Amino acid sequence: PETIHDYLEIRGLRVAFDGFVAVKDIDLTVTRGDLRFLIGPNGAGKTTVIDAITGLVPATGSAAFGRKELLGKPVHRIARLGVGRTFQTASVIEELDVLSNLDLAAGASRPAVSRLRARRGVPASVEEALEAIGLADERFRSAGALAHGQKQWLEIGMLLVQGARLLLLDEPVAGMSHSEREQTADLLRAISPHRVVVVVEHDMEFLRAVADSVTVLAAGEVLAQGTVAEIQNDPRVQEIYLGT
Ligand code: ADP
Repeated sequence: PETIHDYLEIRGLRVAFDGFVAVKDIDLTVTRGDLRFLIGPNGAGKTTVIDAITGLVPATGSAAFGRKELLGKPVHRIARLGVGRTFQTASVIEELDVLSNLDLAAGASRPAVSRLRARRGVPASVEEALEAIGLADERFRSAGALAHGQKQWLEIGMLLVQGARLLLLDEPVAGMSHSEREQTADLLRAISPHRVVVVVEHDMEFLRAVADSVTVLAAGEVLAQGTVAEIQNDPRVQEIYLGT
């Protein structure tokens, strides 16, 4: 169910590794329908922010989704609060077909629903996900036989059927062909109005095509935030990207 509480609100997020502060008290708010890109040079802290929100690294400060605090909770509880992430390498089960991967993902989050599904057949949500990710015709193909882009879409589909309402996507178009990028852009545009989406991505062409807003991280701090045009015209942003 969609509510007005579907937003990610990060306040004073701080992550330190053995005294090295990788994320320095950042504030970040992302609302549903505001497709947000998180960019910045290597080592800026982008992945660490996502790791902190999803419970993979300890952090201080606050990161709330739907008014529920995420920090300090174990990974599986954060997932149950509707937070889903992808990794740079898709974590699909290669031996299983597309449909089974989706069914497993759907069942993993709600065992009771999964038992109902066994009686009623394939639920609408899995069918909708198959359509959304463009794999309806590939449902009986083993995930291992999918093209690189299709595996990434399947992983996003798995988050959708899990009921994720906050999607954190780590470099979703890395290694994709031009047409795969265009399809991924369509997929993200279709998802965004209904969910909170944060994308870590280096590809500026892709960013220009789909981002509603951009947050630039540098050395663990928010350097700039705004629309794509505002970010592109920001001299501080131009400076860090000219250096790379
Ligand atoms: P980005 O995703 O923006 O490239 P990261 O979040 O991966 O940056 O890393 C931010 C900084 O934190 C880097 O300096 C990196 O070396 C450091 N870092 C990330 N993970 C760890 C870790 N587990 N232990 C120590 N340092 C880490």
